[in-house]
Amino acid sequence: MILETQITIYVCSLCQRTYRLKEDAKKCEILCAKLLESPDISVLGLSSRTYNLLKIAGIDTIEELLEKSDTQLLQLKRFGQGALYELRLQLQRYEAKMQKRGTIN
Ligand SMILES: [Zn+2]
Repeated sequence: MILETQITIYVCSLCQRTYRLKEDAKKCEILCAKLLESPDISVLGLSSRTYNLLKIAGIDTIEELLEKSDTQLLQLKRFGQGALYELRLQLQRYEAKMQKRGTIN
C-alpha cells in the first residue's frame, strides 16, 4: 500500500523563504515588509569605513541616504570621492537587485 504524504510549506511572499510553520512565515513577512519600507544601509554591503561614516552622520536607512545629494554627502567629515563612488555603485546594484525581485517598478 502506498501512502501519500502531504507536507504543507509556507512561503514568505517577500523573500520566498520557506517555513514549516505558518507563524514563522508570518513573522518573516512582517520583518521583510519592514525592511522593504526602509532598509538599513547595511544591506548595501559597503566597506566598513564608508558605512561608519554614514552612521556617524546619522544616515541609517536607504531612504535617508536617497534624500542626500552628492554635494551633501561630500560635505560629511572624511567622506571623499572614493566613498561616494562606492556608495553610488552599491546603490545601483541594490536597486537592480530589487527590480529583479519585482519590488520596485
Ligand atoms: Zn521573508
